[in-house]
Amino acid sequence: MKPKFSLLDIHVIDMDTIDISNLNRQFLFRQKDVGKPKATVAAEFIMNRVPGVKVTPYFGKIQDKGDDYYLQFHLIICGLDSVEARRWINATLVNLVDPENPESLKPLIDGGTEGFKGQARVILPTITSCYECSLDMLNKPTAFPICTIANTPRLPEHCIEWASVLEWPRVHGDKKMDTDDPEHIGWLYNTAAARAKEFKIEGVTWSLTQGVVKNIIPAIASTNAIIAASCCNEAFKIATSSAAYLNNYFMLIGTEGIYSYTFEHEKRNDCPVCGGEALDMTVNFDTTVEQLMEMLMDNQSIQIKKPSLSTPTRQLYLQGPPQVEEATRPNLEKKLSDLVPEDEEINVTSTTIPLRLTLRIHYA
Ligand SMILES: [Zn+2]
Repeated sequence: MKPKFSLLDIHVIDMDTIDISNLNRQFLFRQKDVGKPKATVAAEFIMNRVPGVKVTPYFGKIQDKGDDYYLQFHLIICGLDSVEARRWINATLVNLVDPENPESLKPLIDGGTEGFKGQARVILPTITSCYECSLDMLNKPTAFPICTIANTPRLPEHCIEWASVLEWPRVHGDKKMDTDDPEHIGWLYNTAAARAKEFKIEGVTWSLTQGVVKNIIPAIASTNAIIAASCCNEAFKIATSSAAYLNNYFMLIGTEGIYSYTFEHEKRNDCPVCGGEALDMTVNFDTTVEQLMEMLMDNQSIQIKKPSLSTPTRQLYLQGPPQVEEATRPNLEKKLSDLVPEDEEINVTSTTIPLRLTLRIHYA
């Protein structure tokens, strides 16, 4: 089979500029590049290094580009740093698929890392499981119960949280904590270390203190390199048909030794992006529209930040435009069972991601 393209024509999108702290791991950048857009500098570096490759940079958001832009490529590789951005590109590429036009199906290769852990996956929009299908695999952001922090610390993190959440305001009153101020971090570190000693807990360090209070997971160059290599390998296989590509999820776990695992993540028929089937949901007769919205925001496999709800016959609550939001706002405190009959379907849309979820409501 002949290669799909003879000249390597790459477009790169990134909304960031280069910071001095990037230089330890982002090998395409040098000190002289600090302050410049990453996309532009990376494009120039690659064109100098690899003759015959054309790289076109765009300094901005992936959301700035529409369907026509994404339709011009053979495949898309993502190394995004947020769940929201991944959900957006995933839903955009699924919506792009036109069954009449095979060219509209754009394979998506997604890589991501978190400290010593990483993953790479190949998504064939509408065919294999998509990013939204696996949303429930994400870890919930860690939050420690305040009683554990206050009374029964077991982890170094508990001691650090105690220092920052309880001790800082007690000792410093209204003085705001600045997590970029080394003196403040130093105070937190010493306070947490003293508490850890009292409870015979090991592991409170300066960098963990900084990590907990700033909510940082360190970016590790070797993890990034392995995941980037895996993504490039998959792109090469898809572009050249030289070998079977990943089906469909590769995991790297480097926290204790090195372990990797490949499995086929299954498509969810009730996936709001690629599934098409309604999701059955059982609520109480007393559940209000607002409570249903909270359930949708909390649900690990849905996680829609600003849902708008409507049935085929009425608007339950729409986030916008302002007049419609105002007109539907009184519904928020009404009982769902007064507005939506049993078994009726509710369409849920999001303002940030192009998805459409159908709920079939049952009352208990
Ligand atoms: Zn899906």
